[in-house]
Amino acid sequence: MVPELSVVIPMYNEEEVLPLLVERLRPLLEGMGTTYEVVAVDDGSKDLTAALLQRYHREWPQLRVVRLRANAGHQAAISAGLASALGDYVVTLDADLQDPPEIIPQMLAAAKTDGVDVVYGVRNDRSSDTWFKRASAQAFYRLIGLMSQTSAHADAGDYRLMSRATVDAVNSLPEHNRVLRFIVPALNFPSDTVEYKRDQRAAGDSKYPLMKMVKLSLDSLTGFSTAPLRLATFAGFGGALVAVLLVLYTLISRSQGHTVAGWTSTVAIVAAVGAVQLVCVGILGEYIGRMYAHMQGRPTYFIAYDSMTAEAGERGPTDTPLPAHPHPENLQTDTVRAGLDRAPAQPQSARLHEAESTQLRG
Ligand code: UDP
Ligand code: MG
Repeated sequence: MVPELSVVIPMYNEEEVLPLLVERLRPLLEGMGTTYEVVAVDDGSKDLTAALLQRYHREWPQLRVVRLRANAGHQAAISAGLASALGDYVVTLDADLQDPPEIIPQMLAAAKTDGVDVVYGVRNDRSSDTWFKRASAQAFYRLIGLMSQTSAHADAGDYRLMSRATVDAVNSLPEHNRVLRFIVPALNFPSDTVEYKRDQRAAGDSKYPLMKMVKLSLDSLTGFSTAPLRLATFAGFGGALVAVLLVLYTLISRSQGHTVAGWTSTVAIVAAVGAVQLVCVGILGEYIGRMYAHMQGRPTYFIAYDSMTAEAGERGPTDTPLPAHPHPENLQTDTVRAGLDRAPAQPQSARLHEAESTQLRG
């Protein structure tokens, strides 16, 4: 059976926080009155996280355990969870309770009533983060905003709810080392935000040492901008200009007889060759940039609705609910729902189109 809600939680050496998490999350999800699953992704933990998860799984059947063979990193662990999650809506949440699970019902309600695809959790108070973390985060978002066309909310992390259509879209992207907090806004699907106060880590230490933060920043920059590649082009043109001026200068110096023999030609050659090389590197960079964009394979559009496929009851492309309308699936009655093929591999779009045609026929 397909649950309505999946909660994906990446975990790396979280034995200390795990019991607190289960204690807080389980009653909350149970009280929501929806079908749900929790996908705990153990990111190659070296402590008792894996064993504890197995134990909790025995007494909490909705807790699914997905274990990665080796530590793959926060973003990769979330990607693994997104690929495994079955729900119509998927929330991604950190294990450390810095982001309160209590706003999940609010996120789900916002997605359903407004018919949006993404609901971002936005931190309105980051006083619990260190000064260094806040300052570096701010500089980082500003830089990315400047260098790429993507605008991610500076106070939105990886706590968000996504519709099935969004998760399918993210899963379909072939690129590696994706940084979800920029990939998801780059899709530009209809979205809402829910604000919350960021707490202290409930237990244990941060699993994000400086090196991992640097890697995240580099992945974000190179994943969302080819501006660094273009540097060589600009430097090349600047260099060419300087070379022309230099050659003029050497020629004038020579005509005035201020120079030693050979100086003019040497400086002219060095300047010209340097400029030519930089321009060539720049040209290579431009083509590499194009190849890179092609390799990332980001679709330039996602179709939300096609009357032909909808009316024929065929499987449509990835679907997104129309903004400002309730999510179509929530309008279905239980009888219509029961008639739907809920196979997990089938995208939501197909289910929606089938649902619509069932209604038409009925
Ligand atoms: N995490 C992970 N793999 C890693 C590092 C972290 O799955 O290699 C998880 C970690 O268990 C937590 C989340 O990613 O659930 C965020 O990590 P953390 O809270 O340590 O980061 P911070 O809040 O300090 O930035
Ligand atoms: Mg944390």
